[in-house]
Amino acid sequence: MNNSPHYRTCNLCEAICGVEIVVEEFQRLTIRGDKDDPFSRGYICPKAVALQDIHYDKDRLKHPVRRTARGWQRIGWDEAFAEVEQNLKRIRSQHGRNSLATYLGNPTVHNYAALLFAPGFIRSLRTRNRFSATSVDQLAHHLASFMMFGHQLLLPVPDVDRTQFFLILGANPAVSNGSMMTAPGMARRLEEIRKRGGKVVLIDPRRNETARLASEHLFIRPGTDVLLLLALLHVVFAEGLTRPAPFTKGVETVAKVVAQFTPEKVAPITRIGADQIRRLAREFAAAESAVCYGRIGLSTQEFGGVCQWLINVLNIVTGNLDRPGGAMFALPAFDPLSAPESVAPRGSFARWHSRVRKLPEFGGELPVAALAEEILTEGPGQIKALVTLAGNPALSTPNGRVLDRALASLEFMVSIDFYINETTRHAHIILPPTNTLERGHYDLALHLLAVRNTTKYSQPLFKPGDDTRHDWEILAELQSRMSTNGAAGSLVRGVRNKFIKQFFGPERILDLGLRFGPHHLTLRKLKQAPHGIDLGPLTPCLPKRLRTADKSIDLAPEILVKDVERVRVRLLDDAAADSNGHLLLIGRRQLRSNNSWLHNSERMVKGKERCTMLMHPDDAADRDLMSGQNVLVRSRVGEIVLPVEVTEEMMRGVVSIPHGWGHDRSGNRLEVAQQHAGASINDLTDNQAIDALCGTAAFNGTPVTVIAHT
Ligand code: SF4
Repeated sequence: MNNSPHYRTCNLCEAICGVEIVVEEFQRLTIRGDKDDPFSRGYICPKAVALQDIHYDKDRLKHPVRRTARGWQRIGWDEAFAEVEQNLKRIRSQHGRNSLATYLGNPTVHNYAALLFAPGFIRSLRTRNRFSATSVDQLAHHLASFMMFGHQLLLPVPDVDRTQFFLILGANPAVSNGSMMTAPGMARRLEEIRKRGGKVVLIDPRRNETARLASEHLFIRPGTDVLLLLALLHVVFAEGLTRPAPFTKGVETVAKVVAQFTPEKVAPITRIGADQIRRLAREFAAAESAVCYGRIGLSTQEFGGVCQWLINVLNIVTGNLDRPGGAMFALPAFDPLSAPESVAPRGSFARWHSRVRKLPEFGGELPVAALAEEILTEGPGQIKALVTLAGNPALSTPNGRVLDRALASLEFMVSIDFYINETTRHAHIILPPTNTLERGHYDLALHLLAVRNTTKYSQPLFKPGDDTRHDWEILAELQSRMSTNGAAGSLVRGVRNKFIKQFFGPERILDLGLRFGPHHLTLRKLKQAPHGIDLGPLTPCLPKRLRTADKSIDLAPEILVKDVERVRVRLLDDAAADSNGHLLLIGRRQLRSNNSWLHNSERMVKGKERCTMLMHPDDAADRDLMSGQNVLVRSRVGEIVLPVEVTEEMMRGVVSIPHGWGHDRSGNRLEVAQQHAGASINDLTDNQAIDALCGTAAFNGTPVTVIAHT
């Protein structure tokens, strides 16, 4: 046993905290925050200790398995690969290339080698039916960046450590530690804003954990943030408070667009007073530095695309883009923006559409809200086979029950995953990769979203078990098999696999990326700095870093400007904007939970029941409900039963349920999670409710009814 500390990055969420791990006896690890990590400075959240629970989890698969009538049967890698190849090729030749589909789950972003090797494998399938968690999460951010700055990965990040005015909409960074804004120890960073005389304003239908650290909190009716943003901009333009950068075009168009959205018009719909909107706009524009940030409550609603665009517009026209304390851009050591198009494409929009509902592709992917219908609707191009990588869409995408039924009907499904969960239980073959502690780690994607430039490589802590495979090896093998045929193909495959392993594996690609990156580092240098290397605060980089053809910011992309008409019709003119007596359902992030995949850790789920519905006391009184009582929640697509918690932290008329729960499906093999099953919010969310612009699931604001469960 080696007792010397091992340093690495926790890859469970976007915050990339540095951890110190000491291997103890009896399969126990001591996990602490790494005080010498230049970015997280010793901060970790309670989830970090669960790294060991995943590693030692007895439910974690280490060898391929095949589903049979008598249960799961262990098989060898060669047999598993051959069966996958044979089935995928058979289905492709019988039903065409679009009969194959892929789904990439969120953990892929936290795994640099999988990120590097997944695109090649997906290309080898030659299908347009590619899906991922992006369209139930951050797609709107990429869309706005692609259209305004010319690259889907040129994502503005709030410079929280220097800002004097932080306006947060639909987010809970004190719990998330900054999603689409990598910022470990966010609570401290928020406190520091106030300590230096700055202001933090939170606008959210729930007085959440961030509200406790904010200078001010305002409730807003779910789904109406777009009106608030339009009205803020209305005030900024009407009062002459604009000062955009010279390389910005389309300012007059935006001024015209926002002219009709007066604070008085939007106040009764948003439920934020006109005076408060005017005051907020003036304070924001007058602050020494200010930044507006909106996250999941805005990104996953009916007008998510327009919301993320308007957030950028507000930052830009008040002169707060690309300056300290405003919205800035990171410059990572491995810069995806300088990588070849095949590794980090600029982005694309509506090059093709889904077969059934005609939803647009973005970045080569279709919205996952369309996946179930693409499987269940017969006809040419119907999906017959699915490959999932580290995903659990049965719990994490809207109307999970219909997707569940769709997955059960597939002719063939293969999952690259080490759990038999609510999704992978439908797979015919599961190919389990190694665990994070058994492989090297580098945050290819998240340094791009970080509030400070740092870089770090983590060595594997444990040697992988005999006869195991890393994700990238599985993906490379499948890619080879899908790209070659017959005996000659098998020869080519052997040579290719050897070449990749010896000369062009993930470490080699990473090293090249670092060498040619803006900080001219090498993987060797990173390996010599186990705590990571500080590369300094974010620095102004525009217009040089813009990827638009004319090196200017497009403040008014036509597609987004046009979508404002949909906002007007739906929210200003249409009586349907009213909730018709329904309560509006929103999600909730929890500190000890990470989507659906930490619930098999006893220490993460123990204690008080956490899968509960929060409700305002007046709404509870109207229904004769008391805290702790079980309630039946019903939406257009389904119903669930769970306990209610009555609390003034909710806005009247709005209820909140956390996501990632609902482990009571038969056939999954997650013993601890099944004992703490909870109910899935996505049995209530509607796969027909989307942002019509880009197809992102509109989770927030699902109309529901609630009654006592007897
Ligand atoms: S916030 Fe928690 S889960 Fe996220 S990286 Fe840090 S320690 Fe890990």
